[in-house]
Amino acid sequence: MQKMTQEKMKNSEMRNNEMKENEWRFREEMQNAGLRLTRNRRRIFEVLEMVDRPLTVQQIAKTLVGEVHFTSVYRSIETLTQARLLREIPRGFKNYYELGEMFRPHHHHVTCGHCGRSLAIDDPRIEKLMRELTLRAGLMPTHHNFEMFGVCRKCRRQ
Ligand SMILES: [Zn+2]
Ligand SMILES: [Zn+2]
Repeated sequence: MQKMTQEKMKNSEMRNNEMKENEWRFREEMQNAGLRLTRNRRRIFEVLEMVDRPLTVQQIAKTLVGEVHFTSVYRSIETLTQARLLREIPRGFKNYYELGEMFRPHHHHVTCGHCGRSLAIDDPRIEKLMRELTLRAGLMPTHHNFEMFGVCRKCRRQ
């Protein structure tokens, strides 16, 4: 057990522990999904865990250039998404990927349409409304997917 309480820990230490925890969870979830923990799959997970924001296949492949072949990155992402270890976020004409909800609690994003910076949004009112709207339409809610866009302060100044 940890001797220090979470409050006492420095932010970086907390982040470190969170990353280690996610790494274990990743191994476990891979096993549950009946997927082999290949090096490529692990590297993709590590990249997304590290940057902590949604990336496109191209962006992930660029980070792993010389290490993992593009086709392999593409295929691994597809496999991990099907197993829900990754979450696909449709954004404009591109799909973005982030860690699945087993690693990061459910949330949405507000993205700057100019520079692409995005912020995670988590508000119970959104969840309540999504549920109500789906029920009102006569459907049992399963999941939802939506993204918000705007122009950030930095981009507004230019
Ligand atoms: Zn911006
Ligand atoms: Zn939601």
